[in-house]
Amino acid sequence: MVGGFRVAAGRFLDALACLAGRRCQLCDAVLADSRHFPLCPDCAGRLAPRRGGYCPECGICYADPTAPVYPCLACRMSPPPWSALAFQGPYDGALKELVHRHKFGHEHGLGRLLAFLAGQAWALRGLPRPDRIVPVPMLPALVLRRGFNQSAELARMLGSFMSRAPLLDGLRKVRDTRTQSSLGRAARRSNVSGAFAASSGVQGLHILIVDDVMTTGATLAECTRACLAAGASRVDVFALARAL
Ligand SMILES: [Zn+2]
Ligand SMILES: [Zn+2]
Repeated sequence: MVGGFRVAAGRFLDALACLAGRRCQLCDAVLADSRHFPLCPDCAGRLAPRRGGYCPECGICYADPTAPVYPCLACRMSPPPWSALAFQGPYDGALKELVHRHKFGHEHGLGRLLAFLAGQAWALRGLPRPDRIVPVPMLPALVLRRGFNQSAELARMLGSFMSRAPLLDGLRKVRDTRTQSSLGRAARRSNVSGAFAASSGVQGLHILIVDDVMTTGATLAECTRACLAAGASRVDVFALARAL
């Protein structure tokens, strides 16, 4: 299965390289060696996926990135509702800059780079391929205001990487919530409680829920519960970046 993904990933990158003219997708330097696509060696170093020193359940990053991967105390006491999690790295440095530029700078070309990083991070965790990929939804009014939902875009790109059609309306936001970043841990959970509903399209399927940035995981946990309540057989979650 891993070999198949390598071939699929290679084809995916070739297609992107043709579109992008073999330039570094972060700093725009011309790539001396096209095998480096999509990032020059310098940017690839700054955007290397996290390989150690984190909790595999919730993705919280420990101070030492070379430490082993082991569950944090909170997850040992109360594991999250999803079966497995993958993420690219902490929401910091070059990754934070990239997510921010894509989300608020309307540099939609960066979506392809984010998709590459997402695919790479997901493949690195060695998780089974899901049946469908479902983005964390935004309220329609917010999508209209911003012009796009970054998580939906990630789900689309990750879907083409995995040869899986995204299920863009697998989850709906059924009521408004306050911005999670302004709230403490307990308040975040009650803020999103019951805020999402899953469609019957997830029934009996292995679902991968995709978000751009995961903070405490309260939103992803609530989306996971909604999919399980609607009959999903397994739910994994993917976040591009894990807030520190
Ligand atoms: Zn670069
Ligand atoms: Zn944890």
